Amino acid sequence: MTMLPPSPVAPTVNFDRDGVQHGFLRLPYSRDDSAWGSVMIPITVVKNGSGPTALLTGANHGDEYEGPIALFDLARTLKPEQITGRVIIIPAMNYPAFRAGTRTSPIDRGNLNRSFPGKPNGNVTEKIADYFTRYLLPLTDVVLDFHSGGRTLDFLPFAAAHILPDKALEARAFAAVAAFGAPYSTRMLEIDSVGMYDTTAETMGKVFVTTELGGGGTSRAETVRIAKRGVANLLRHSGILTGAAEPVTTRWLDMPSGECFSFAEDEGLIEPCVDLGEGVRRGDVLARIHPVGRTGLAPLECRATLDGLLAARHFPGLVKAGDCIAVMGTLDD
Ligand code: ZN
Repeated sequence: MTMLPPSPVAPTVNFDRDGVQHGFLRLPYSRDDSAWGSVMIPITVVKNGSGPTALLTGANHGDEYEGPIALFDLARTLKPEQITGRVIIIPAMNYPAFRAGTRTSPIDRGNLNRSFPGKPNGNVTEKIADYFTRYLLPLTDVVLDFHSGGRTLDFLPFAAAHILPDKALEARAFAAVAAFGAPYSTRMLEIDSVGMYDTTAETMGKVFVTTELGGGGTSRAETVRIAKRGVANLLRHSGILTGAAEPVTTRWLDMPSGECFSFAEDEGLIEPCVDLGEGVRRGDVLARIHPVGRTGLAPLECRATLDGLLAARHFPGLVKAGDCIAVMGTLDD
């Protein structure tokens, strides 16, 4: 906490109180239509005695929906007598982005998952990040941060943790991912880890589980079921929720290097040649990008760089140069 000023965020809940509290993280945001206004981020705290703390978040990116659905539902239904310890639920972490249905905040264009560790005197998004870094993460043992692909990507449903320098922490994180029990479990290498919530929590020694459960700016019945089952399983695995975890089978997927990611080198109309979960061999065509300025031109071919399966794809039908158009994974089994 050294020389930083205190966070301007004022919680309306008491994190030390037993029982269920529904309240807000109130973040002052003075603006034209509300001189002394605030951003009101919904939060639920459920606590029963002493025990581990889980911090559960959705809508770190505002256009990803399985997390908010599972967590608004859990916040409404979880009872103190079902747990030992504490569950802190924030269904929509970047609340302005969630309300706008956009990945980043409409207030400051902030991408919350690139804004960590945050700043108490920064913009609204940086103030949210700072509150998590200095106030919520220190209370926490295990973190679950739900993601999906948002409006521009679609994923095979997986839970994931990162390959970490601290191998003991990495093993605990992978055990938590297995307990979550998504159809796929991923050992992730980040291509852009600077400023991530994940990295901040992991550096503090917290078990951090993330997900990619679908995408396209919506959700599906199957991916919502995976989210609800996964959060309950993780809370049981962590010794917080009573009852045995539902047994699940999961397949381990590796994303071993930057080679897993394919990016469009030109704009155009994308023709998928492989669907999510389909196996491919190195050199197979994953997608073709058709030029749309005139007829008669050959499409660009995007080829698999390794043997594996298609784990993620670009979602909208048109691509721009630089868009991520495919992510490959390799199966462990
Ligand atoms: Zn996301």
